[in-house]
Amino acid sequence: MSITIEREDGLAVVTVDFPPVNALSQALRSGLIAAAEELDADPGVQGVVLICAGRTFIAGADVSEFGKPPQEPHLPDVVTRIENAAKPWLAAIHGSALGGGLEIALACRFRVAQAGAQAGLPEVKLGLVPGAGGCVRLPRLVGAPLAVEVITRGTPLPAAKALSAGLFDAVVEGDLRREALAYLRAALQRPLPQVLLQREVAPVEAGFWEQAQADLSKRAGREIAPGLALECVRRASEGSVQDALAFERASFLERRASEQARALRHIFFAERGATRPPELNGVQARAVNSAAVVGGGTMGAGIVVALRDAGIPVVLLERDDTALQRGLQRVSDIYQSSVKRGRLSEGAAAERIGGVRGTIVDADLADVDLVIEAVFEDLQVKRDVFARLSQVCRNDAILATNTSYLDPALIAEGLVAPERFIGLHFFSPAQIMKLLEIVPIPQTAPDVLAAGFTLARRLGKIPVRAGICDGFIGNRILRTLRAQAERLLLAGATPQAVDAAMRAYGMPMGPFEAQDLGGLDIAAFQRKAARERGEAVFAPVADRLCEQGRLGQKTQAGWYDYAPGERRPLPSDTVAKVIAEAAAGVPQRAWSEAEIIDSIVLPMVNEAALILEEGIARRAVDVDLVEVHGYGFPRWRGGLLHDAEARGLKEVVARLRELAAAGLAPEPCRKLEQAAETGTF
Ligand code: NAD
Repeated sequence: MSITIEREDGLAVVTVDFPPVNALSQALRSGLIAAAEELDADPGVQGVVLICAGRTFIAGADVSEFGKPPQEPHLPDVVTRIENAAKPWLAAIHGSALGGGLEIALACRFRVAQAGAQAGLPEVKLGLVPGAGGCVRLPRLVGAPLAVEVITRGTPLPAAKALSAGLFDAVVEGDLRREALAYLRAALQRPLPQVLLQREVAPVEAGFWEQAQADLSKRAGREIAPGLALECVRRASEGSVQDALAFERASFLERRASEQARALRHIFFAERGATRPPELNGVQARAVNSAAVVGGGTMGAGIVVALRDAGIPVVLLERDDTALQRGLQRVSDIYQSSVKRGRLSEGAAAERIGGVRGTIVDADLADVDLVIEAVFEDLQVKRDVFARLSQVCRNDAILATNTSYLDPALIAEGLVAPERFIGLHFFSPAQIMKLLEIVPIPQTAPDVLAAGFTLARRLGKIPVRAGICDGFIGNRILRTLRAQAERLLLAGATPQAVDAAMRAYGMPMGPFEAQDLGGLDIAAFQRKAARERGEAVFAPVADRLCEQGRLGQKTQAGWYDYAPGERRPLPSDTVAKVIAEAAAGVPQRAWSEAEIIDSIVLPMVNEAALILEEGIARRAVDVDLVEVHGYGFPRWRGGLLHDAEARGLKEVVARLRELAAAGLAPEPCRKLEQAAETGTF
């Protein structure tokens, strides 16, 4: 870490150089205070430009200090020192000014940014609130409504927005250092703006705070930091600066030690650590510079978009012209909707669509480095596809299947050069969902496995290695969730009560409303296949609903009824009758929210422990990543197994035993019992 000071015609330039992101380490904090001291004492200096080397301005806290006792000087000291400097400071921002980085920029009198820069206070994403005056200064600069938006969501503002809101004084093209010096020089000719703490927050409309509170409660649920952040901004707007600063700091310290912050840090580090596993150290990934997708249905089209978004040229192979046109249309629809939402320019969309070559001729796949198959979920159909492709593709081309439930090793049987075969399991919608389960077969070559991880990262996805079993990691746990939810129905709970409980737990949707949205037929198809393999599957109510053609929203009837054209689930008498028939002889009882949650979540934990015991998942943290990035599991709980550890595995085992005694859950597995001894998986 270095801080250098240069002097130039009465101005000083303080350059921070702490790769990779100029994080606010203890050394940087004390270095900035020392710089302010030195420059205040220098009569030859009238103003100071603070600028960073490398790819970004100060992009936030030093993650290596997370969870450790804080060391002096604390960030508020640095902010106050810069704000009170005798010489005005200007923050010259490129890349990202985030968290503490923006709080330092807010202590400066001026903020000049390079085009493409962004600024934000993302603390809530780590379960925190800003801790060095961000909640107090930002509303004084941009007004309370925007400050609430920025701070409670944690989403950074792009340069243009930051400029129009007054957060940036100027956005410049070209050499940032030169432009910043010129800006400061000119600004020093005019009266200085007041430091932010001396300004007032512009008054808000009547009812603003109540509305903000109501919106937030809906959005944040049980997540504590966003609500606390709102309170911080409100106090900063309505009370004294000193009280607001003290409240913000106390809230920050309290949150930093909280379980939710711990959980969010756990996921943050898990995401960073989701790279290739250590056994691949030294393995050069097989190169992927072009790809083909076979099947342009729901998944295939999404995968095409994911590949194109990463700049990889794609050939899309379909079975006939009509299906091909449909597939290409799906791709184009996805891009058109991005354009409509303002996420992508027309030009960029056209360029990405232009990089997709549709075909119904196998030979057009002769040169690609990777093929991802996403045709119907049928072993024979998939085998036929690969048999044909092995005639035309290069022998070193990677062949991947996106199967959800079939055994990839069976799909690859009889294939020439099976060492190039692998499962790459995307989640729907594939262009959005971050999870990629990577499923090697026994023959998969290390450089092919490594290519799976490299590709995932290139697509902006979180790769998790999974072993072969029915449903791999995620769908196997999902099956437990669904079976438990049905068990509850037979024992007296209603679909509404189960859905409400799981939403209260933090899931974006309850299990029954989610099935209605996705369609009950997919799972029915999987159950049929599992039964054909001789497996026992528990879904007495879902089976009956499917027989009746109640397939979810698309048939206006599933676990709920739907009024024509409406998506609002209405309790269904028909379903109640089906449940009552299936529940004949099962003792009925009342269910509290907590009991419903335990009856679903704890068996999921047990299934995940079995998945670890069997080596299907290699690390507990992989299960957490799968749940958070593939299934909407609340991030602030840190994932399924982190949440169980946080609750205490001994308690989990004890509760599970009680449920097992009541016939509502399996007995805890060996791995879970063992983990309970140490408290961790
Ligand atoms: P889909 O029915 O929407 O699409 C399948 C496509 O494959 C169709 O467009 C069809 O024309 C095409 N196709 C069929 N046979 C073909 C052949 N021989 N050659 C070329 N194209 C052919 O199905 P989907 O939902 O996209 O699922 C595809 C695969 O992805 C399945 O294996 C499924 O299990 C898996 N998957 C689905 C989801 C999901 O949520 N839908 C999630 C993960 C994985």
